[in-house]
Amino acid sequence: MQTKAIKAGLFGRPLSKSLSPGVFRIFSELTGGLISYELRECAGPGLAAEVEAARAAGWTGFNATIPHKRAVLELLDSAEKAARETGAANTVRFGEKGLEGTNTDALALAGALGEHGLSVKGLAAAVYGAGGAAAAAAWALAGAGAGRIALCARKPEGARTLQAKLSRVFPGTSFSTLPFGEPPEGHTILVNATPLGMYCPGTPPCAPRAGDICVDLAYAPGGTDFLRSAKAAGARAVDGLDLLVWQAALALDFWGGFPGGDIVKFKNDALARLARQLEG
Ligand code: NAP
Repeated sequence: MQTKAIKAGLFGRPLSKSLSPGVFRIFSELTGGLISYELRECAGPGLAAEVEAARAAGWTGFNATIPHKRAVLELLDSAEKAARETGAANTVRFGEKGLEGTNTDALALAGALGEHGLSVKGLAAAVYGAGGAAAAAAWALAGAGAGRIALCARKPEGARTLQAKLSRVFPGTSFSTLPFGEPPEGHTILVNATPLGMYCPGTPPCAPRAGDICVDLAYAPGGTDFLRSAKAAGARAVDGLDLLVWQAALALDFWGGFPGGDIVKFKNDALARLARQLEG
């Protein structure tokens, strides 16, 4: 199953907990060993120079994470819908139109909802956080027909900005902002789009119930406390590790390195290998 050679990497800071090199190593094994992927720690002002160095070194493209997902949009010559509408890009390629970007975090949640047969039509969601991951999650939920989405953040300004942006894109979904606390009854989709459970201890302040849909963007070896409590309560859970591998598989496809076939199977083969490695 050999495919085109891919040279790529990840720009961001901090990258200490990034599992992306391991994911792309697994992709490389699954596709014939033609993928190289590097971590490049860099803060805000260094991004443009890093991108130029990557272009000169013949990279196919790159991923961007904290703190670059919004800033990278300004460097793009062309942005796909998922990047334009969320105001953030995490995947960029050196393409025919120049720097072309998309948001595979947002597309990953859309893919995961479909894969797991989770319908969110008309339901109410509480999304914790107001950064890039929250934008991606709210975009995917609204795109899948969620009726109401409450953005719950420590700093209300960030949530209000996201509310205004997404309200324009999805007039059929009602967006609101709430304090960072337990949502009112009836919010049956609970999404952690903060680093809680990954870069800092804790869980979002909500109590999952049986039948809820709980999504964690954060991930940790062995699972996060939030998803453990969701599963124990009988909720349906979408794991951050699953989303990580989903967004990486979609990035590989954007760079032209996906060998074709069933991307869900490819993603699941890689996820199973990654889970085994993390357990070992
Ligand atoms: P970001 O743009 O920096 O936004 C983080 C958000 O979380 C902000 O609203 C921030 O609020 C809030 N926050 C930070 N620390 C908090 C705390 N201790 N308690 C409550 N809220 C807190 O980051 P991001 O890109 O959205 O990423 C968020 C998390 O998702 C990260 O851990 C990232 O690694 C993960 N992620 C995973 C995937 C995946 O594929 N699984 C994809 C994307 C992101 P303040 O402004 O108040 O600090």
